[in-house]
Amino acid sequence: MTEELVFRNPGEKLRDLLGSIFAYDPTTENSVFSRMDEAVLANGELALLAHSSLVSYLTRRLITAAEYIKRKYNNEGYPDGFYIQKIRDYLIEQTRLPSDQREKILAMLLECLSARSRKVPVKTKQRMRTIAQKDGLKCYICGCDMDFSLRDEYLAAIIEHVWPNSMGGDRHETNLRVSCKKCSDNKHNYMESSDFHYEEICLVDEEGSEDFNKKLTRQHKIAVWTKSGYSCILCGKPASEGTLGFARRNINDNWHFLNMDAYCDEHLAQINSLVRDNS
Ligand SMILES: [Zn+2]
Ligand SMILES: [Zn+2]
Repeated sequence: MTEELVFRNPGEKLRDLLGSIFAYDPTTENSVFSRMDEAVLANGELALLAHSSLVSYLTRRLITAAEYIKRKYNNEGYPDGFYIQKIRDYLIEQTRLPSDQREKILAMLLECLSARSRKVPVKTKQRMRTIAQKDGLKCYICGCDMDFSLRDEYLAAIIEHVWPNSMGGDRHETNLRVSCKKCSDNKHNYMESSDFHYEEICLVDEEGSEDFNKKLTRQHKIAVWTKSGYSCILCGKPASEGTLGFARRNINDNWHFLNMDAYCDEHLAQINSLVRDNS
């Protein structure tokens, strides 16, 4: 597959551009991020997480500002396309983004706004649900059995934008999956795992204890699943084929975001038996 054929959401392209304008180089940085990372021996992962979180913040902030301006100026009181000039003015007057990147950022913001306004047709939703039900697919995020009759408040099968629609995620089929309503609600408009409240640490440290899973909030679980690409990090088995559980990388350390990954049942059982043998 060539580069051009891989679909990228407008919001993803904008986030990539902002990430390259404000690139983070762990080899030369001596920022507060790096020093904190070093303090907890995070091998650069904490610094990257903090950087990623800020790039997402900037992306979200620009998209919401552009949307706000569009709502204000895209109506009968103003000439056609007037809001585009207003978004440009905003970038000039209210930001210090590099001027040679401004028109590119503006073009991407406009693409995000049009993706936002394209809704998934009812027919597509119905077709995707029918196929998912026929194939026995489970929620692509949590692996639960979804309710295809759409009666259940939490388990109803929803057509989900992997890259959120409000953040410039398009209705292209590669960006659409079937999830339960609860996951879709909790995933909110988060673009990737650093958007979640990732350091809501679980205090229960008993491996495999029922309490452990119960005390993890849905959002924390979704953050780890998002980080692991909604699939087992060892074999790639997706959540849509079965629930993914959690294990720690370093069993002497706490259950915190950077120490957790998602695994399929089979690999989870292997990891847990190794842990038992070694203890
Ligand atoms: Zn779910
Ligand atoms: Zn696996």
